[in-house]
Amino acid sequence: MRVTGKLRELERLVDAWKRRGETIGFVPTMGSLHEGHLSLVRHAKKENRKTVVSLFVNPLQFGPDEDYARYPRDPARDRALLKKEKADLVYAPSVKDFYPPGFQTAVAVKELSRSLCGARRPVHFAGVATVVLKLLNAVRPDAVYLGQKDYQQFRVVERMVRDLGVPVSVKMAPIVREKDGLAMSSRNIFLSPAERRQAPHLHRALEKGRALIESGVKNACDARKAALRILSRASGARLDYLEIVDAVTLRPVVKLTEGARILIAAAVFFGKTRLIDNVLAEVKK
Ligand code: AMP
Repeated sequence: MRVTGKLRELERLVDAWKRRGETIGFVPTMGSLHEGHLSLVRHAKKENRKTVVSLFVNPLQFGPDEDYARYPRDPARDRALLKKEKADLVYAPSVKDFYPPGFQTAVAVKELSRSLCGARRPVHFAGVATVVLKLLNAVRPDAVYLGQKDYQQFRVVERMVRDLGVPVSVKMAPIVREKDGLAMSSRNIFLSPAERRQAPHLHRALEKGRALIESGVKNACDARKAALRILSRASGARLDYLEIVDAVTLRPVVKLTEGARILIAAAVFFGKTRLIDNVLAEVKK
């Protein structure tokens, strides 16, 4: 496994693979890897000859009051995990190399960035779209692998790729969860033992919403209320949002019409730690 922080070296390795006609799968991450990230690496490896993983805590996607400085970082452990998975190349640039002085470009995927997390984190998705486009330009993969965990991010990247004609296929892999349903996240290590015990209520609440939608409830407000009732059992949890939206446009849905594909997405604070999760539901015919 090669590890580099230098764009030139990354490009040289990629050029050599491309000359040999080898397909490339790419997994962008912010490091502090867990099984969710590793599942993406396994997907990429299964479908491509070469797999590239980036480790980069992207400052552009954090707001001024967010946790950029304390975001967990453990590059040595990440490299060991990726070696075990037999990734071919790890790209871990410094902020200074990735965004040299004078860098000032931003990519805006306007509408899809406005709802859900985007309404609370106004700079977040422009930061995501910008870093992902720059990484795609460097790695030039055949496919990029993203987790459903960050569903809105997946839709934003998919839209950007389509709108700007980036030659890559965007693939989404399912959410990897702990045994009690909590979605794996690099931020879970911030939870106190008491918060960790309450955190699975988030997934339970979303599942309640899905069960109601799939059992034929006609009004999304009823599903939302039932989900919120479950969430209210989590002592100390503070709701950021829980919304029921169209799974493609991410616009709010009220009437659940047959065949509609629905996303139930939420962000909840457990103490200082903000966790996100989502489930997809289909309104039965
Ligand atoms: P991050 O390092 O948090 O930026 O995540 C990098 C990629 O891993 C993103 O595409 C995430 O959606 C994905 N990811 C994070 N957590 C999970 C999870 N629990 N299951 C599946 N994918 C995940």
